[in-house]
Amino acid sequence: MGKGGKGEAAPAAVAGEGENMAAWLVAKDTLKIMPFKLPPLGPYDVRVRMKAVGICGSDVHYLKEMRIAHFVVKEPMVIGHECAGIIEEVGGGVKHLVAGDRVALEPGISCWRCRHCKGGRYNLCDDMKFFATPPYHGSLADQIVHPGDLCFKLPDNVSLEEGAMCEPLSVGVHACRRADVGAEKNVLIMGAGPIGLVTMLSARAFGAPRIVIADVDEHRLSVAKSLGADATVKVSTSTDDLAGEIELIQAAMGGDIDVSLDCAGFSKTMSTALEATRPGGRVCLVGMGHNEMTVPLTSAAIREVDVVGIFRYKDTWPLCLDFLRSGKIDVKPLITHRFGFSQTEVEEAFEVSARGRDAIKVMFNL
Ligand SMILES: [Zn+2]
Ligand SMILES: [Zn+2]
Repeated sequence: MGKGGKGEAAPAAVAGEGENMAAWLVAKDTLKIMPFKLPPLGPYDVRVRMKAVGICGSDVHYLKEMRIAHFVVKEPMVIGHECAGIIEEVGGGVKHLVAGDRVALEPGISCWRCRHCKGGRYNLCDDMKFFATPPYHGSLADQIVHPGDLCFKLPDNVSLEEGAMCEPLSVGVHACRRADVGAEKNVLIMGAGPIGLVTMLSARAFGAPRIVIADVDEHRLSVAKSLGADATVKVSTSTDDLAGEIELIQAAMGGDIDVSLDCAGFSKTMSTALEATRPGGRVCLVGMGHNEMTVPLTSAAIREVDVVGIFRYKDTWPLCLDFLRSGKIDVKPLITHRFGFSQTEVEEAFEVSARGRDAIKVMFNL
C-alpha cells in the first residue's frame, strides 16, 4: 500500500468488489471462466493479483486428455502454473514482501517434513501440492493465495511476463545443474520446442562454450539459431537415419560433446544423445514423452556415459531472476502470443498453444 501510486489505486479498489474469477478445466477440451473462492489467508501466505500467466505444454495436455501419467483430473480444476503478479495482501508472518510488490510465483508447495524436503530435494516430495496438478488448483485466476516463501520479488528491470517465464526457465536451469553444464562443456540439445529453447538459453548462461541443437522442424531450428545456438542440425523421425545424423551432429559440434540434454523424449532422440556423447560425458533426459523407450544403454554404460533425469526443479527462482536482471538470459523473444482473460480469449489462446507451429509461449495478460 505504501508504494501505491495512482496507478495501483484502481485495481486495489476493484479487488474487494467483483468476484474472483478463474479458468477452470471442467471437461475434456472445455475451459470455463467461473468464480473461484479463495482460501483464508494464513499467517505465512500472501494474496496475489495475477498479471501474467503462460500456457505450458502440460496445461494443454490436461485440457486434451484430462490426465498426465497417474495424475487424473476427476473434478473441475483451475488451470495454469507459469505466473507472476502483484501482492495485494500479506499474512502477519510474511516479512519480505509488502502489498504492491511485483512477484514471480514458484508453483509447488512441498511438505518440508519428509526426507526429500529435509535433504534439500523438495521437488521429489511425495506430498507436493503443485498448481494445476490434480487435485490442486492452478493460477490462471484474478487472484490466488500462495505461501509467501514461494513468491520472489522481481527486480525493477524484469517485467511481469518475464517473471512468469521463470517457471519454464527453471526447467532448463535445473536440467543444466543436473547435467553439470559449465564453461568447459560443449552441449547438445535434442529438441527445439519451448523446453529445448529455455534449456539452450540456460546452458549458455551456465557458460557452455558451444551449443548444437537438433530438431525435425526447420522453423524451430531457425528460432534456436536466432536465440544463440552455435549450430543447428535438422534430423528426421526415422531410426534408419540415426548413424548418419550422429555424425552430422558431431561434425556440427566440431569437438567432443560433453553433455547432451534430450528435450524431446523419444527413443530416437535419447538414442542420439546416448551415442553422440563422448566417453565419460553426461546425458540428461528432460522431456518425457514416453514411459518406455528402447535405447542403446549398454554401449553408453561401457563408455561411462552418466544418465540423469529431472523432475520439475528446486531452488531455481533466485538464479532465474538474476539471469533475467543481468541480461544473461532474454526470454522476451519466446513470448510469441498474448491474450486477455475472457472466455473467448482463453479458448483461443489454448488453441493457439495446442496448434504449436510458430507459437512458443502463449501468455495471458490479466
Ligand atoms: Zn510449465
Ligand atoms: Zn516433503
